[in-house]
Amino acid sequence: MPLQFYNTLTQQTQEFAPERDNTVRMYTCGPTVYDYAHIGNFRTFAFVDILRKTLRANGFRLDHVMNITDVDDKIIRNAAAQGKPIEEYTAVYTKAFLEDCAALRLERPERITPATEHIGDMVAAIERLEKEKHTYASDGSVYFRISTFPGYGKLSHTDFSGNLAGARVDVDEYEKADARDFALWKAPKEGERAWETPLGPGRPGWHIECSVMALKYLGETIDIHAGGVDLIFPHHENEIAQSESLTGKPFARFWLHAEFLMVEGQKMSKSLGNYFTLRDILARGFEPEAIRYLLISAPYRKSLNFTFDGLKSAAAAIERLRNFKLRLATDRFPDGLSEKLAARTAAAAKDFSDSLNDDLNTAGALGAVFEYVRDANSAMDAGEFTAGNVKAGLDFLAQVDAIFDVLQPTRKASYMEDSEVESLVAERAEAKKARDFARSDQIREQLLAQGVILEDTKAGVRWKRK
Ligand code: AMP
Ligand code: ZN
Repeated sequence: MPLQFYNTLTQQTQEFAPERDNTVRMYTCGPTVYDYAHIGNFRTFAFVDILRKTLRANGFRLDHVMNITDVDDKIIRNAAAQGKPIEEYTAVYTKAFLEDCAALRLERPERITPATEHIGDMVAAIERLEKEKHTYASDGSVYFRISTFPGYGKLSHTDFSGNLAGARVDVDEYEKADARDFALWKAPKEGERAWETPLGPGRPGWHIECSVMALKYLGETIDIHAGGVDLIFPHHENEIAQSESLTGKPFARFWLHAEFLMVEGQKMSKSLGNYFTLRDILARGFEPEAIRYLLISAPYRKSLNFTFDGLKSAAAAIERLRNFKLRLATDRFPDGLSEKLAARTAAAAKDFSDSLNDDLNTAGALGAVFEYVRDANSAMDAGEFTAGNVKAGLDFLAQVDAIFDVLQPTRKASYMEDSEVESLVAERAEAKKARDFARSDQIREQLLAQGVILEDTKAGVRWKRK
């Protein structure tokens, strides 16, 4: 099946291919680094990771830019409260964000770039918008006049006509969903960090940073722009107004938006206090892979309810896959090739990639995997799975893991020494001799969790690291 995405702009599912050079030019909105990101934020970033990997699986190259919002009202407020310069304050959370992304195995975009390194570019863009009469100044701030952009509302499919006169807000945190002119440049309040520029002292609004960085690094029309659904309005609507007023060209061809991670029917958010950071979850003993799996197991356009039971099921699902892989890699199967199983594996692989190509239907893709695992396990139990079926099975798991990336356990800081492995292997042999199979299985699992695979051979037990 050809790759297709639901496009918020057209409200249709459309076949996707990049416009030029087989390269997807993509921009995704990054974090505001005023605190640790919560796992709700990471649902959106994990969706972007699946998007990247699926695009690559379709043979496309990637040129992906993500911003770091390192100046905004909350950052200024919190840094001031701690008596720190904002750079020092945001450095901590930028670093934490990148560490958390790595723990969740989220691929790095080709370019990650902070807003404060682009103040000059933003000022130049605002001056051009001024020249084209898209702005007005008030009390040292500069606002975008929405009535100068007839397409305003086309992404959120809202009719703003008759609702635009003169109203405006100058904060980054929008609560009201009504039409407002928005700040491009903000005059400093007493004692606030400000940049001295031809526009006067101040700092950029949030929306202009994304327009400027996308245009600068990716060109006038990008292939994909993505983020969480809460960004559709006003952030992405405002990005379109700014960018298209600057270039006269469509800003992005495809707009993809991820639904929320919920807790008991409400969006996980800082302001509601119903959130967990990745660190909170790891401190409770869960593996980062379990969180990764949970976040990506539901299709991105469906909201996903977070529970610890869900997290336990995710961990169990990963364990099932790992056990299957171990069985495939270490069991002895009868010689020959079962055509029936070869066809079964090929069908599962096709079903898997078709599901992902169908607007990243991760649940469908995982369904294909687990049905295959069940069928293959039964075939193995019945002695019907042959040595000739092993390679295709392992290849299929590699195809799955190129997207889901959960099979390899995270190497713990407490890396298990060879001597410790040896003594557990010896203990397992004793347990087997004493017919204590529960204990011997437990040791096998414990070693597997440390990335050590056991192979029972005629010559005794061999072990290797994954
Ligand atoms: P922020 O750091 O607040 O700018 O948000 C970073 C990203 O997280 C944005 O793309 C938001 O849309 C997204 N986001 C925030 N809360 C949630 C949530 N509960 N579930 C999924 N995505 C979220
Ligand atoms: Zn943005």
